[in-house]
Amino acid sequence: TTVMGIETSCDDTGVAIVDDQGRLLGDALQSQSSIHKPLGWGIHPVTAAQLHERNIHAVVQSALHKSNLKIEDIHTIATTVGPGLAFSLNVGLDYSKKLLQQHNKRFIAVHHMAAHALTVRMLNPIEFPYLVLLVSGGHCILAVVNGPCEFYRLGSTLDDAPGEVFDKVARTLELHTHPEVGDIAGGRAIEIVAKLGDEKAFKLPHIMAGVRNCNFSFAGFKSAVNAHLKRVSFASLSDWDQQKMTIAANMAASFQYYLTWHIAKRVRRALVFCKTFNPKCRTLVISGGVACNNYIRNELDKCATAFGFQLACPPPYLCTDNGIMIAWAGVEHLKSNTATILNPQSVIYQPKWPLGVDLSDRVAKSN
Ligand code: ATP
Ligand code: FE
Repeated sequence: TTVMGIETSCDDTGVAIVDDQGRLLGDALQSQSSIHKPLGWGIHPVTAAQLHERNIHAVVQSALHKSNLKIEDIHTIATTVGPGLAFSLNVGLDYSKKLLQQHNKRFIAVHHMAAHALTVRMLNPIEFPYLVLLVSGGHCILAVVNGPCEFYRLGSTLDDAPGEVFDKVARTLELHTHPEVGDIAGGRAIEIVAKLGDEKAFKLPHIMAGVRNCNFSFAGFKSAVNAHLKRVSFASLSDWDQQKMTIAANMAASFQYYLTWHIAKRVRRALVFCKTFNPKCRTLVISGGVACNNYIRNELDKCATAFGFQLACPPPYLCTDNGIMIAWAGVEHLKSNTATILNPQSVIYQPKWPLGVDLSDRVAKSN
């Protein structure tokens, strides 16, 4: 059985074909980041949708070509229907509906964050249940995964997503012009520059330190970083001399340290909660773009070990957005016989689709 995954929820057009053993037959990814970057902050939704529209057919053809398959050979189409940018989601869903009209295939509607959470199982035989931390450009979620369609949310971010804050801080530190970073942007640039700095150089807040639940908050890091940078007049330093280099490195290191401290604190609460909620949970999985960060991986590995958990992470190319994870989520649904859709033409995209059951109140009461 072959499943084609189609991902267009944000700014990456991703298509991949995976078989029911989890073997990757072919994949193609068209990123828009080089186009949105010059526009300044973030992604322009109308432009993103236009680019998906322009690229999707070629990306599908490329994935088919790489896998040596024809569209007739595909058994199931799995498509991201939410959460994400409405216009972007619509392009992938519309294209899928057209394919389904022309060819006789099954259809599976995929939740983008569920796909981020399941992708680890494509390469690692991780059993359900497990605890997952999803840290990405638009989300921060801690959840217990009992099956491909069964998620219990222990906490999520009350404001910004960690990837978003990494991107903003990288931008404020002007890392896109940093001589030792080159073409790399966002969170990856912070991780590289942080290696050169002192994480104790700037004191940032211990956000939500006394709050007894598993929710997150990241907005405070942005204002704290900005206040420090204003004090040292960072914006008026034009050339990358020794002084500017040192400030940027120290700030990147301090920011990464405090943000990781915050994440680790929330994860430890979740690990405690899991012991009574579902003692069969023995694995902590981290996924989403920010899970590429090795500093965060190392700190969470220590947390997991201290609680007798194993840490598991997908390789970086599966942590950021791609079609492979959507195809794999389709395989998971097929295998577990969940999410059968009788009339795909009636499916509508869902920009705000919460992941699973909200348990955050129960977590707060249990602590
Ligand atoms: P969502 O999945 O919530 O809809 P998204 O799909 O846009 O959001 P991803 O592609 O999963 O997000 O992740 C992109 C984010 O990951 C970016 O904000 C980027 O800065 C961040 N990121 C990538 N590599 C690293 C790293 N090494 N350290 C920190 N952040 C990173
Ligand atoms: Fe994503």
